[in-house]
Parts: sequence; structure tokens; C-alpha cells
Amino acid sequence: MSSRILVVYTGGTIGMTPREDGALAPGNKQDLLKYLPSSRDGIDWDLLALTPVDSSDIGPRDWLSFAAVIEREYANWDGFVVLHGTDTMAYTASALSFLVDGISKPIVLTGSQTPLFHERTDGRLNFLNALRVAGGRPVVPEVSICFGNVLLRGNRARKMSTLETDAFESPNFRPLGAVESEIVIERLLLRGPSQGPFQAARALCEDIADITIVPGLKPSLLRDLLCKPPLRGAILRTFGRGNLPASEEIYNVLDEAVDSGKVIVNVTQCARGAVDMLLYESGRRLLDIGVTSGLDMTPEAAFTKLAWLLGQEMPLQEVRGRMQNDERGELTQPCD
Ligand code: ASP
Repeated sequence: MSSRILVVYTGGTIGMTPREDGALAPGNKQDLLKYLPSSRDGIDWDLLALTPVDSSDIGPRDWLSFAAVIEREYANWDGFVVLHGTDTMAYTASALSFLVDGISKPIVLTGSQTPLFHERTDGRLNFLNALRVAGGRPVVPEVSICFGNVLLRGNRARKMSTLETDAFESPNFRPLGAVESEIVIERLLLRGPSQGPFQAARALCEDIADITIVPGLKPSLLRDLLCKPPLRGAILRTFGRGNLPASEEIYNVLDEAVDSGKVIVNVTQCARGAVDMLLYESGRRLLDIGVTSGLDMTPEAAFTKLAWLLGQEMPLQEVRGRMQNDERGELTQPCD
């Protein structure tokens, strides 16, 4: 029996065409259909084109509407492919992983570094591979990114290259699969299918900042960012295992922010590894202040997870606790 896949087109380079001045801009459904291969190999697909945009223009409201589209269509298809720009694909994949609950079918994001109309596009192959993951066996019952030579858990993935066709990696988690002549899925890494019912969350908090700590950071600048309403939470991208400049003024700012109900999450600026706030003095101070460890989450996963949890209006202690809990395979729980 053939699989039926819904392809949701949100924009990105894959479907872009050149404007008169040569700049690439999102193409419409017809532009895309001209270049996409038709149904084959036991996989039938249909295209649902949303308003195509560069993924830099995609944000929390779009994540909610993508999740709502999938919820509406969920029962009608065996899986979903989301065509998306690469620039913010890791954010959308992470956001979707948190927004949808009860998932037992594949939701596979892909796109390309060069548009489909290019002779040497990577888009055609990425599309075919994503379709094979969405419609194939074993079922991959999670939100994933299929791009270049890998299949990755969506909320572990990051865009690592502006040029290479293998643009994505999941630095803290092994790929769910390798894309070779066959797609080889690592069954043991897959999350088990949920028993459902499938449903999409309806709200995300948009009042969250993502702040990179730099050497010599001025406390007054940090106060401007962290202590003014309507901010409700922030991701702090710290040094190494979760450290920042040891200044009393900076600790005071963080203390004030946490005391006034902001959730501050500590993630590392390093590409690989995890925050450990027990290791250094600076981390211990942050722990005492009530800063939450982001463990080995990517900044994209931490940001969208915080937006999801704060959007659900639960007690702050629960938000802080669940930020450190493995909710969708997005983090590695440390051993006791
Ligand atoms: N700027 C494009 C986008 O993210 C880049 C891409 O798709 O590769 O929409």
C-alpha cells in the first residue's frame, strides 16, 4: 500500500526564483511544482502552499500556524514534509517538536542551499529523501530534519554552514539516520510513537530574549535587556560550561531578574557539550541566584522550549523544572 504525504511549502531558497535585479525571492506554488518530481516509489504526495517567505521572516506565530495546519490535516496523511528556508529551520523544527503532542507520524523538514531551478540544486535530492523518510519504514515518529547526508532530530539540529550541502548537524546527539544510497535509520535512537491523541498547543510566549555574554559585558546593558517588562524569560549564551564574568554587579542584575519572576536559562556558546553549573565558582553563583541550567540544549531548542512552557501559563517553578527535564528528546539528562 502506498503512503500519502502532505508537503507543506513555507518558502526558503528551495522554491526561490530570481527577481529582475537578480536577488532571490520566494516563488509561488506553480514555480515549485515545475521542478518537484511527481509521486513515485509507492509515495503519493500533495502540496499545500502557505504564503512562501524567506525563513528569516518566520516566527512564533508562524510556528503556531504550522502546528495548527498539521493538526487539522493529521488524520488524512501518513506523514508530513515541511519545505522551509534553512536559516531558521532549526528554530521551526524545535518549536514544532514542543508544540505537537501525541505524535506517531513523521514530520520532516527540509529545504536547500540552492534553488530548485538551478541545474545543480541540492533541493531535488533533499526533497526526495525527506519524502522517503516521511513515507518509509521504519516510521520516524518525531519532528526531524532531513538535509544533505543526514536525518537529525529537529530539536537537536543546528545550521552549521552557509555553503555546504551538508548544512546541518546535531552536535550533542547522534544522527537519527544516514542518507546514503539507502536511508539507514538508527532505530534505537528514535522516540517511541505516542499513543496520542495528537494535538497542537495554541500559545507561545513571545517576550523572551536571547543574550550572548561577551568578555567585559557591561552590567548596565544586561540590566536594560533583562529587567524591563514585558520580558518574561531569557536564554543566556555563556562561556564554556556555563560561566560569565564574575562581577557582583552582573550577579545583582541576574538576582533582580530572577526575583522579579524571569526565567533565565544558561546555555553554552560552545558548539558541543553541556552547561554544568556545579563545576566553577561562577556557575555555583548562578545556581544560587536561581538561574536554570539548559544542560546540552541547543540555543534554538532552549529558546523555543521556553516560549512553549511560558506560553502555557504554568507556575514558574514548573517552567524551571521542565526546562531541565527531557520533554521531547531535546536534552541529555545528567547521571546522578
Ligand atoms: N534565506 C533562505 C531562507 O532561510 C536560506 C535558505 O533557505 O537556504 O529562507
